[in-house]
Amino acid sequence: KENDIMARVGGDQFSIILNNLSCKDHISSICSEIINAVKSPFLFNDGKIFISTSIGASVYPFDGADAGTLVKNADIAMYSAKENGKGLFELCNSIMKDNSGQAVGLTNDLYKALEANELEVYYQPQVDITSGFIVGVEALLRWHHPKLGMIRPDVFIPIAEKTGLIIDIGKWVLYTSCVQKKAWSEMGIANLSVAVNISVNQMRGREILKQIKDILAETGVNPEDIELEITENVLIKDRENIIQILEELKNMKLRIAIDDFGLEYSSLNYLKHLPVDRIKIAKPFIDGIGRNIGDESIISAIIIIGKELGLNLIAEGVETEEQLQFLQHQHCDEIQGFYYYKPAPASHIEKLFINQAQSTSGTHH
Ligand code: C2E
Ligand code: MG
Ligand code: MG
Repeated sequence: KENDIMARVGGDQFSIILNNLSCKDHISSICSEIINAVKSPFLFNDGKIFISTSIGASVYPFDGADAGTLVKNADIAMYSAKENGKGLFELCNSIMKDNSGQAVGLTNDLYKALEANELEVYYQPQVDITSGFIVGVEALLRWHHPKLGMIRPDVFIPIAEKTGLIIDIGKWVLYTSCVQKKAWSEMGIANLSVAVNISVNQMRGREILKQIKDILAETGVNPEDIELEITENVLIKDRENIIQILEELKNMKLRIAIDDFGLEYSSLNYLKHLPVDRIKIAKPFIDGIGRNIGDESIISAIIIIGKELGLNLIAEGVETEEQLQFLQHQHCDEIQGFYYYKPAPASHIEKLFINQAQSTSGTHH
């Protein structure tokens, strides 16, 4: 509108001030308009150029009483939108504000979270790309904060890492996932692998080896059914030690996956040397399918190299039919993403298995 203001703050950042909005919904419609307007390709020389936008918004007086606070909170929301993928918009919320403004409060609360039973493991199914059947699940941690509601791991895992709490929390996730795996086996759900994320700090000493040995012994879970997901940055520090730990885990018959592959370190050389079973192709590449030829080429290359090395490949964050089709065409093995299933509590996942069992027995009769 005429009295709205748009200004370039610097670099590729712009600020927009919208005056006298009637309701919050209005913000999202304006943001979608902007994102869509920028999304259409620009013609430049002989090529097309794609630009994506991430927007964060804060609202006076809820998110701040002065300009500085409002801009800071809009900034936090924008980074959160960016982390969730390209071309998104997010409103500032209380968790973000708490996380940045008073990280101390959240840290104190996290110390109590395990004992207070506020943590829960959600599971997200992994689907075979040809049959559409669930062949595995990834354990994803959730924190039900008594005051702030559900907090996403992107917010509290970094705090857990900084404080060293990740050791206890990580152990709890492993234990809980193994107990769950056992319960599912006893319910007759067979051939299901359970993947657990392991952070860099958990890999520091040799503690993890003992933890896993104890948990497997106590729960009686077959180590071949447990996959450990590590990110590439695990390999940057303390390389020798990590490689040795990975090899010992491998000797214990656990499976190892490289999470968010392609985003960070991406040395193809380590794929050859490391005892890795599987590559998880990072979501930002999947987001580029149908939009960015570079992303598509990277995906094809990862799949070809992975296959040559005898690795299993799974694509993360698949949200659309178009992405699924591209990955099928490239012979990716498995898919994980909202297109099929979102992460959900164990009880919900059980229902999916029951439905799946019914539908397969249906086709045989
Ligand atoms: P990750 O291991 O790469 O997990 C995948 C993340 O992508 C999950 O976010 C999942 O909910 C999300 N996701 C899956 N499919 C889609 C999709 O189609 N669209 C979109 N937009 N998102 C999708 P989540 O659960 O918030 O976890 C975030 C990260 O936190 C994980 O990334 C992982 O690095 C870390 N994390 C989660 N649980 C644990 C844990 O128990 N231990 C450790 N160390 N890290 C964990
Ligand atoms: Mg993961
Ligand atoms: Mg990932």
